[in-house]
Amino acid sequence: MIYLDYNATTPVDPRVLEAMLPYFSTHFGNPSSATHAWGWRAENAVQKSREKVAQFLNCEPSEIYFTSGASEANNWSAFGVLHAHQQNSQGTPIHFITSSVEHSSVLNTFKALEMLGAEVTYLPVNSAGLVSPESLQQAIRPHTKLISIIWVNNETGSINDVTALGEVARKSQIYFHTDATQAIGKLAVNLHQLPIDLMSFSGHKIYAPKGVGALFMRQKNPRVAINPLIFGGGQERGQRAGTLNVPSVVGLGKACEILSTEMSSEIQRLTNLRDHLWSKLQKSIPGLTLNGDPQHRVGTTLNFSNSQSSIDLLLPKLQKIGFSTGAACGSGNMQGSHVLRAMGVSPALIENSMRLSLGRPSTEAEIDQTVEILKSALIK
Ligand code: PMP
Repeated sequence: MIYLDYNATTPVDPRVLEAMLPYFSTHFGNPSSATHAWGWRAENAVQKSREKVAQFLNCEPSEIYFTSGASEANNWSAFGVLHAHQQNSQGTPIHFITSSVEHSSVLNTFKALEMLGAEVTYLPVNSAGLVSPESLQQAIRPHTKLISIIWVNNETGSINDVTALGEVARKSQIYFHTDATQAIGKLAVNLHQLPIDLMSFSGHKIYAPKGVGALFMRQKNPRVAINPLIFGGGQERGQRAGTLNVPSVVGLGKACEILSTEMSSEIQRLTNLRDHLWSKLQKSIPGLTLNGDPQHRVGTTLNFSNSQSSIDLLLPKLQKIGFSTGAACGSGNMQGSHVLRAMGVSPALIENSMRLSLGRPSTEAEIDQTVEILKSALIK
């Protein structure tokens, strides 16, 4: 069995697990317990983790808010802006801009905001799945309060130019949020230099556990002021209530620490493997087309369509490979991948698309075996 679905989720790195283990039973304190050593130890571990995350992303530790994952961080950014606006300027309209290729945790959040009366523009993308800064510029209205554009697309790996897009937002003094869930660990991220005001990401795409993530919220130039999404105790400087999941927070910090030292060599290794996979597939199987930007694309993702045969019919032959499809059955969406549709891929090719995504455990032997399995399934 060959797992090639690391964009869906990654295994917890053994070093991450080891760092987490003491915080389940031995150091089990509540980080909000300020009156005893159990609480202090947990709080200390949370702060250390915040520092590791911040160091990796080159931002301040106080700009990192731990959440239950990227979905929560995406919801928080959008609802946080809406609620702050409603509180400060009652009754006046509000407009948001996003793209048509966002993850469902962004798209469905904006659909919910529309139900609450907000105006939302869903920007189109080019055939590689990228948003142009010019189309963003044109979509801005006097009452636009948030622009949210995915950094790296989870289906195709295409990389949006968040520097150019963020600059457009900054010129108009509009908050710029990016869903960086698929960018973290795959690209160098320097928040000190990037025009990003809010950024969501998740632990389980970077070899930390599921159910933990974070929202980066810029503190200076500009200072982002949005409302909380979850109310309760005063955790996370009063911005996100709920007792922190200390072991997972520790795991997220450890995962970032590992990436700080290993990311660049690992990405080079995986990019070579991915390119090797694609060139072998192209040489041996006729009728394959790449989905996504050939250049502006992270090195771990390969999404292609085949014009020769139906994936649905081939699935039984492909059970040894863990991959995902853009087909209706795969996405749970009867129209198939909204991302490929927005890129102008034909319905037949959407139905027959495959996403293979590589990760830390991937080896050359696995890639060669994958080519053989795909060859025997796809060549008639
Ligand atoms: N955004 C993107 C681009 C993703 O790939 C995912 C995970 N599939 C999410 C958001 C949601 O992340 P989480 O599972 O942490 O809520």
